[in-house]
Amino acid sequence: MMCGRVHARGMAQEAERGLIDRFGRRIDYVRLSITDRCDLRCRYCMPQRMRFQPRDALLSRDEIIALGEILVARGVRRIRITGGEPLVRRDIGGICSGLGALLGQGLDELTLTTNGTQLARHAAMLRQAGVRRINVSLDSLQPDRFARITRGGDLAAVFGGIEAARGAGLGIKVNMVALAGTNEDEIEPMMRWCAGRGFDLTLIETMPMGEVEEDRSDRFLSLDAVRRGIEERFALIALALRTAGPARYFEVAELGLRLGFITPLTANFCGGCNRIRVAATGSVYGCLGRDQKVELRPALRIRDTAQVHRLLDQLLAGKPLGHDFHIARGPAVERHMSVTGG
Ligand code: SAM
Ligand code: SF4
Repeated sequence: MMCGRVHARGMAQEAERGLIDRFGRRIDYVRLSITDRCDLRCRYCMPQRMRFQPRDALLSRDEIIALGEILVARGVRRIRITGGEPLVRRDIGGICSGLGALLGQGLDELTLTTNGTQLARHAAMLRQAGVRRINVSLDSLQPDRFARITRGGDLAAVFGGIEAARGAGLGIKVNMVALAGTNEDEIEPMMRWCAGRGFDLTLIETMPMGEVEEDRSDRFLSLDAVRRGIEERFALIALALRTAGPARYFEVAELGLRLGFITPLTANFCGGCNRIRVAATGSVYGCLGRDQKVELRPALRIRDTAQVHRLLDQLLAGKPLGHDFHIARGPAVERHMSVTGG
């Protein structure tokens, strides 16, 4: 009895400790991948014949929710569900409602990043679960080009998903990976398209993660140069908005658009990193561009919460200062972006 009480007190103390790394950075944001599978094959993300994890290697719905509870107890305020494509997971509804139940219990925001293909079916469920904003990845507004980039994706399905999400009252930010010789001529049309619908837009530099079938350096587009080009045509007003994330935001005065730039190659902002990344298998990475990780699945599977806390401490003790992406050197890590979901 006595022992149980002491144990419970120990656990509570563990839970009250924040997630602070050796550089003093407080982790309050988690990217939570719930599957590495996807119904698209974006050329910069993964090869056509991608090898996925066996299903029993993935955390179950209950393990994901238990992990969410532990993370929130350790001070995590925002969780972004991602993948692979999170909406292809069959128990997505249960996962969202389980994590959504943490809102107001320490969790401030539950968000999701999706390719939009399955969004029409799930938009109302997301809203119901407490999601208020989503990111939709969209690299082209031209059906043929979209199909080429995604190796077969149906742009109409994505548009339908976006409309459903709007209709359900979800705020939308479009993520566009800027690719030389592929979609650079669509940056301004995308800005106008997003502005016309009240969406935010974030442009992203392609990152060297995992082998794909093409040389990413051929497609790399410096967003520094892109921003200078945009500034020749529009007034960009730097926004104070700091999310401790890697994006820098501007207001495009003429369009009333909030425009973000994620520039891991031309300028990284790792010094203020506030996040860790959970893969669908329960591996947790301290950095997008490094291999340092801990494996939470065994402990989650036997519900050993104390061990999960210890492993999180271990992760934070070794969290790297930052990544070291160089596009010309090729992949900095073997895993693809789809493992940790960006
Ligand atoms: N499937 C969902 C989607 O596409 O939104 C979620 C996962 S996806 C890996 C998350 C984001 O990472 C997407 O916006 C995608 O464009 C981006 N991404 C994937 N591979 C990338 C890479 N190598 N460099 C930069 N961004 C990448
Ligand atoms: Fe799938 Fe997203 Fe990767 Fe495209 S970027 S292949 S949609 S996981």
